[in-house]
Amino acid sequence: MKIKKAEPQRTCLSCRKKQAKKNLIRITCFNGKIRLDKEQNLPGRGVYLCPNDSCLASLGAKKRLKLWQGAFRYPASRAELLSIKREIETFLKEEKR
Ligand SMILES: [Zn+2]
Repeated sequence: MKIKKAEPQRTCLSCRKKQAKKNLIRITCFNGKIRLDKEQNLPGRGVYLCPNDSCLASLGAKKRLKLWQGAFRYPASRAELLSIKREIETFLKEEKR
């Protein structure tokens, strides 16, 4: 009998819901650079986000800036977060194709 391993779960930074890691978007901050981690294997502090509009909207939202900066332990600017948001949106569109 095969023993099924529990799927790794992560919490979305925006809505705080727990989900399977593979269903979430991973963003990392490493050496002061924020990157979309498409393969979920980049080094750095990983932050997870649901791939839906309402959670993506927290990227670059003024009210959420401190939350992101705290999660990354890095003083990210809104412009940096917004550019990551655009990158995620493009990435999601490509995946759906
Ligand atoms: Zn979420």
